[in-house]
Amino acid sequence: MAAHLNPRGDVAVLIPAAGAGVRLGPGVPKALRLLDGVPLLVHAVRRVAAAPSVRAIVVAAPAAELAVVREMLADVAPVTVVPGGATRQESVAAALRAAPPDPEIILVHDAARALTPPELVESVAAAVRDGADAVIPVLPVVDTIKEVAADGRVLRTVDRSALRAVQTPQGFRRAVLAAAHAAAVDAHTDDAGLVEQQGVEVRCVPGSEYALKITRPFDLALAEFLLRAAEGSG
Ligand code: C5P
Repeated sequence: MAAHLNPRGDVAVLIPAAGAGVRLGPGVPKALRLLDGVPLLVHAVRRVAAAPSVRAIVVAAPAAELAVVREMLADVAPVTVVPGGATRQESVAAALRAAPPDPEIILVHDAARALTPPELVESVAAAVRDGADAVIPVLPVVDTIKEVAADGRVLRTVDRSALRAVQTPQGFRRAVLAAAHAAAVDAHTDDAGLVEQQGVEVRCVPGSEYALKITRPFDLALAEFLLRAAEGSG
């Protein structure tokens, strides 16, 4: 039986899941890769659907896999599935067009951050509810970061204390995200980047180690370990 999302929730979550996942190596699109026998997208949707504020979920899937994705999610949660675009930004824009009109808070979340806990979804949504126009979850940067020229020469060392690694879900007041996408001229790797370009202030909340982006084979192995460790402690 399909899980029902909270009809009193005030949040719609857009999940771009149309990427090929080239960095994970050859195979099916990334969102359909298996983690502990379950597609990454199913892990991600399960956790988002478990957040009490979430009223609707829209997934942008690879155009060739729409039927597969709808079938895969049928018993997970009531989800709208639309074809994604050539870039992440286009996939988010397609999902935004398909979102129901009422939720005032829109979160944008990568399918590749499959183990993101429902608590992070709630804390990002709460920060928007409390008045922020745009909210991103962040972690401190642990490595020393250097700017390096194309030929491998180090140009400079960046002050790490002011840097943050940015995760998803990123949260927005609906009108702010819609205006930023409508005005977009160049490509951005996240939605907060688009919104910043409009001069909107973006606020930070603490991120989660579990919201790691599964990009390379090592990340998949790490996620598998984290999942099993969590199951063992539960
Ligand atoms: O490529 P990257 O790792 O930044 O992708 C982040 C998220 O954006 C992934 O969940 C991926 O499936 C999604 N994406 C998309 N449409 C694209 C490219 C990426 O929905 N054309």
